[in-house]
Amino acid sequence: MSKRDYYDILGISRNASESEIKKAYRQMALKFHPDKNPGDKQAEENFKEAAEAYEVLSNSEKRARYDQYGHEGMKGMPGGGFGGGMSMDDIFSQFGDIFGAFGGGFSGFGGSGGSRRRVRKGTNLRVKVKLSLEEIAKGVEKKIKVNKLVGCSTCQGTGAAGGSAFSTCSHCNGTGQITRVTNTFLGQMQTSSTCPYCNGEGQTITNKCNTCNGSGTVKGEEVISLNIPAGVNDGIQLSVGGKGNAAPRGGVPGDLIVQVEEIPHPELIRNGTNILYDYYVSFPEAATGTSAEIPTIEGKVRIKIEPGTQSGKVLRLKGKGIPSLNGYGKGDQLININVWTPQNLSREERELLNKLNESSNFHPNPGSKDHSFFDRMKEYFQ
Ligand SMILES: [Zn+2]
Ligand SMILES: [Zn+2]
Repeated sequence: MSKRDYYDILGISRNASESEIKKAYRQMALKFHPDKNPGDKQAEENFKEAAEAYEVLSNSEKRARYDQYGHEGMKGMPGGGFGGGMSMDDIFSQFGDIFGAFGGGFSGFGGSGGSRRRVRKGTNLRVKVKLSLEEIAKGVEKKIKVNKLVGCSTCQGTGAAGGSAFSTCSHCNGTGQITRVTNTFLGQMQTSSTCPYCNGEGQTITNKCNTCNGSGTVKGEEVISLNIPAGVNDGIQLSVGGKGNAAPRGGVPGDLIVQVEEIPHPELIRNGTNILYDYYVSFPEAATGTSAEIPTIEGKVRIKIEPGTQSGKVLRLKGKGIPSLNGYGKGDQLININVWTPQNLSREERELLNKLNESSNFHPNPGSKDHSFFDRMKEYFQ
């Protein structure tokens, strides 16, 4: 479904002034306001559409971008609220700007304003967990001890001493919201805001718990077991729902955010799902062939180096890399063979080498491109 033009939505011309935009939106917002059109889905759509149009056209930067690129230009703009459209909360928070005098914005829909008691959420906790390459390759269960706020056991997290120590907030009658009706030149408007006396909870504690001083939470610790899947990357964040700090007075606990840190391997280098390893052979070994023990994340593996191996040859150990996090396949270990050129030669060595150098076997053929740079690059990226 293609989106309607923002100017058309508000019924204004492309060179409308700021105050014309505001005026047009005010009319739309009043006409389609959900309080005036209860249960009317089309009105709600129009209401949201107008809010989105206003959000863009009232901001000179966004407007310029929209004028130049249309809806395409609005993708991914911070605060744009696009994709899923704007939420009602976003829209109501815009109203302070439009209806000036009513800082708090409209209340919700019709009678539903009365039931918007705030559910408190505990704060999120962040921890780092260090993993070796071996642990990353296999996936691992880690038990970690975290210091956090836990529910107070004296009052069962309620914050009150004894079961009957609550009373309904007399300022909001237990709704958690204070509603005001104001007469304005636009007609009667209902605004509501969080009750400051009970912080939106609807009730107050008459007799606070001594252990937690009424907060319902105390400092504590918990051992949490984390199941870390194979293939995670350094810096990735895993979220464990409900394992963060307990919420004050019986709300929902926050989340535990686990950040993965990869401990560098002493010999192997990780590159995505592949493992890279640099191996040096002597020139005589490269010429006559040899075998070598190579470290992998699954232990030592013996590899064969063929006679006549050139420096820069890449050997591939299939499936000896890291599994991909999404479960599709596994990387390889790539072994980069380097031929060691001797340094600091003795006189005898120098003479021997000079003698060997007389043989044409020791010189590359003009046509020989065995393991040229390009071949090697192809091997790396295949
Ligand atoms: Zn307590
Ligand atoms: Zn209250």
